Amino acid sequence: MALFKKNIWLIFYSLTLTAVILFLLLSYFKWQNISLKYQIAQENTVELIANATHSLFDTQERLMDVLGAAIAEDDRYVHHPSGIGKYARALLDNPDVLAFGVTTPEGVFLYGSSDSDPTRIPNLKNRPESYASFMDALSHKGMVFGRTYFTPELQKWAMPIRKTIRDTEGKPLFVMTTLLKLTSTFDRLISTVRYRQNLVVSVIRESDSYLQYRSQEHDEYNRTYQKPFPPETMERIWTTIFDTYGLNPQTLQNNELLVSFRYQDEHSRRYLSSLKYNAQYKLWIVAQTSFDVIVGEFMETLGLYAGVFLLFGTVFYLLFLFIAQAESKRRADLTYQATHDQLTDLPNRNYLQQTVSSNRIAKDAPPFTLLYIDMDHFKNINDSFGHHYGDRLLVAIANRLKTLLPSDAEIIRYGGDEFILFTQLSEKQAVLDFATHLIETLSKPYTIDTLRFTIGASVGIALYPQHGEDLDMLMRAADIALYASKKLKNSAHIFAETMQEGFLRNVHVEQELRKALDTHELFMVYQPQVDAQERLHGVEALVRWNNAHLGSVAPDLFIPLAEASGLMPNIGRFILESVCTQMHDMHQRLGYDFCVSINISVRQFTDPSFLRHLIETIEKTHIRSLSLTLEVTENLFIEDLHFLVPLLQEIKTMGIQISMDDFGTGYSSLSMLRKLPIDELKIDKSFIDEILKDDVSASTVRNIIAIAKNFGMRVVAEGVESQAQKELLSTLGCDLFQGYYFAKPLLKEELERFLQGKKPISEP
Ligand code: C2E
Ligand code: CA
Ligand code: CA
Repeated sequence: MALFKKNIWLIFYSLTLTAVILFLLLSYFKWQNISLKYQIAQENTVELIANATHSLFDTQERLMDVLGAAIAEDDRYVHHPSGIGKYARALLDNPDVLAFGVTTPEGVFLYGSSDSDPTRIPNLKNRPESYASFMDALSHKGMVFGRTYFTPELQKWAMPIRKTIRDTEGKPLFVMTTLLKLTSTFDRLISTVRYRQNLVVSVIRESDSYLQYRSQEHDEYNRTYQKPFPPETMERIWTTIFDTYGLNPQTLQNNELLVSFRYQDEHSRRYLSSLKYNAQYKLWIVAQTSFDVIVGEFMETLGLYAGVFLLFGTVFYLLFLFIAQAESKRRADLTYQATHDQLTDLPNRNYLQQTVSSNRIAKDAPPFTLLYIDMDHFKNINDSFGHHYGDRLLVAIANRLKTLLPSDAEIIRYGGDEFILFTQLSEKQAVLDFATHLIETLSKPYTIDTLRFTIGASVGIALYPQHGEDLDMLMRAADIALYASKKLKNSAHIFAETMQEGFLRNVHVEQELRKALDTHELFMVYQPQVDAQERLHGVEALVRWNNAHLGSVAPDLFIPLAEASGLMPNIGRFILESVCTQMHDMHQRLGYDFCVSINISVRQFTDPSFLRHLIETIEKTHIRSLSLTLEVTENLFIEDLHFLVPLLQEIKTMGIQISMDDFGTGYSSLSMLRKLPIDELKIDKSFIDEILKDDVSASTVRNIIAIAKNFGMRVVAEGVESQAQKELLSTLGCDLFQGYYFAKPLLKEELERFLQGKKPISEP
């Protein structure tokens, strides 16, 4: 079916071609059929006329023989010619006979049925139309035909037949002439023939080519009968027959053959002719039908066929057209669906790939600008208000973008809250102005139902062709510029080479990081955490990376890269396993347990297999889950809380503690803190750094500690570098301390040495 729809016109054209071929074949056979029909009818007519002519003349001849013998026996006929009348009566009773006469061998009438006084009838030898046949009759034994002529006496066209009656020595006694009614005899015959309207039957005398009879042109008797059939016409007929059958007139005469042939007269009129010779009476019987008649009938049928053909053709054509249109509409719909986003009805990523590369990017194409727009913190909306409002906000954003669009621009929804905008603007300041306008407009509040939403947008800009000669390069450049804008939020940046350098370095670091696990370049260090009396509470596990080319790479740099490139779950597993193994080992050797805090990044936490792996690792390494703390950052809570809270709760039921790292820098609210099952708050180092110099920092820290106590949480200060800091924090109520003042992050062996002589909190 699909194949059918794909090649629908090909199928239609082949069907049409087949139909045309069939139509032509059918027409050809129909033509054959019709001309054969005419030919057969015509041949039958010729045969009929030939036979009828023969029997007519034969009967007449016999009659005259009988009559002649009777008259000759009655030797008074010369002296009492009127006595002949009684013999003639039998003949004259025949309706075909017009008149009967007897003349002397000199042509003088002895008797004439048309006139009581035979002497008034002109001598046959004296009339040009009767002279030849009269002389013929004198010199022949058999019956001869006279030329068909008009008898003024009878006012009729007549065909004379003559016969000479001789004595025993063969000397002519008298000549008899019977005048046959021309029309009635033959016309009656012709009237029985089918298709006679179009048929012209001619009976031609072989001796002088005069027409004995012609079935048409009765009103033109003079023209028809008073001159011979043109010899050049006869010649033409013989040539045609010879060309068709290879027969000459002699053969036709001898064998009385019936032949049909196509013949063209001197006026280029074409006929289908049939012809036969009667040897006894030396007559050619010819029938012909004008080709126009045959063609006419053929055309009539053809017209009918063509009508049916056209009707079916049209119906088929309309049917195919309908299918083709439905199909192309279906395809257009599919293409539209595939290239457009259902939610906002904007062109989508597929559209971008399919059309932009082919339309905008070409040799000598005019410059244009690609704006990569990303809404800031869109996720919060989804998480806090649900996808329903998230979707509606996106539609509102898309609509606002559409209204902002200059006529030459094009907008595409690239992903969740990411849009790509193309504009012909290419001058940098103009582009930046446009982007600023865009951000301002997008940042204005949106009202959906009764709710008001305010959301920022960041824009990365790449210019064609400076920043990339294909779509991928442009997109990457815009993405790099967006990365710069995202750091500031609500801002726009045009791509610059310097951004590229940082980007490329990151790409290089990422490539090295992919190999780091296999080449054992990652390892753990541990930074002790102590209480106010500087007794050991536990350690924070921190990852380190020593790369052959890059040297030591700070986790601040590679952890976000690992997050972005999807390496984090693997690295996270390595960290968890290493820490648990090493710490359990150390607990065994020291003979007591201490706490270990492990940093868990957002991607690790949201990895579906995280919990299973955590349980497996605890079982495998036999570490006590009571001594484990997982440090999470506030960023985690930008993710879906509905999914996070149960997960945290499950972790807590295993006896593992949760610590909120870098508290105070992010966006988590106090109300949210209450919902979360958190055991510990870690005050960010940036506050500790300022605590002695800046009252605001000091009071922030005091507040944080108060809130934590209020929620029953433990407070840890990190980045403590001096005794003064420690003492102030201690006075403010901070429980635990971590920082260079006590110890830097230590290798496992160093930690073991550090712990020698230190007492754990749990020991008295
Ligand atoms: P963080 O979780 O806040 O880790 C504390 C950082 O402060 C560590 O830096 C530590 O070496 C540093 N630090 C501790 N005391 C002092 C001090 O007195 N003065 C100064 N200047 N710095 C101090 P580090 O190891 O470079 O780690 C940086 C960040 O990288 C960490 O911040 C954490 O977010 C991330 N990170 C480190 N290790 C891991 C890990 O194993 N897993 C995960 N997911 N993230 C890690
Ligand atoms: Ca930490
Ligand atoms: Ca921290």
